[in-house]
Amino acid sequence: MSVPQQLIVFDFDWSMADQDSDDWTFEVLAPDIRRKMVTLRDEIQWTDLVAQCLREIHGRGIKREQIENALRIMPFHPAMVRGVTRLKDLGNTTFLCLSNANSIFIPTILKEQGLQNLFTEIITNPAEWENELLNLRRRIDPSGPQHKCQVGCSPNMCKGEELDAFLQRHGKQFDRIIYVGDGSNDFCPILHLRSQDFVYCRNDRGLQKRIRNEAEKEGLKCQIRYWSGAWEVEEMFNAL
Ligand SMILES: [Mg+2]
Ligand SMILES: [Zn+2]
Repeated sequence: MSVPQQLIVFDFDWSMADQDSDDWTFEVLAPDIRRKMVTLRDEIQWTDLVAQCLREIHGRGIKREQIENALRIMPFHPAMVRGVTRLKDLGNTTFLCLSNANSIFIPTILKEQGLQNLFTEIITNPAEWENELLNLRRRIDPSGPQHKCQVGCSPNMCKGEELDAFLQRHGKQFDRIIYVGDGSNDFCPILHLRSQDFVYCRNDRGLQKRIRNEAEKEGLKCQIRYWSGAWEVEEMFNAL
């Protein structure tokens, strides 16, 4: 059923894209570093760890062009491109990206898919090129005030607070919000949704686990749809 104004919020890795852009970059360019990330991820905050690994591949002489090429060949399902492009063309959907990747990876990948104008905002960790080095920082600077999230968002960003801030900033009321996500850090923002809103949750990943274990306790109000492949997201989008 169509509504006058809807917002579609996308997590990026494994939600809009069919891979994790952090993992993928190192799988392509330095698998030994990718292996090290698996062992260090419980000790070092993820954004900090990716930043450290980017400095490490820079030290090995890996160039900007190689990183960009790796991102361009990252798996991205054609059905996802079709699904969002159709909705964008209909004109009543605003798209927001809320991601723990970064402000270089996401636009590079979107451009390759012809989706560079899809999102009204991309809220993510800031990154910029310093010659051949990709300098990455947390969205929330560790030396300043921290977010107040109580449901387990990583220190670099609370997606729930970011969603609320976007809705305030944007000013417009949305008749329906649809959140497309897969990870455990997508649980916080879906707690901010209303009963007329939806989460499109990818199967067999962290978000599904958290919905199963915590939805009742945390008072999740939105409606839940599950999917495995992007073609199923396209199918749901086509029915809106
Ligand atoms: Mg994700
Ligand atoms: Zn949060």
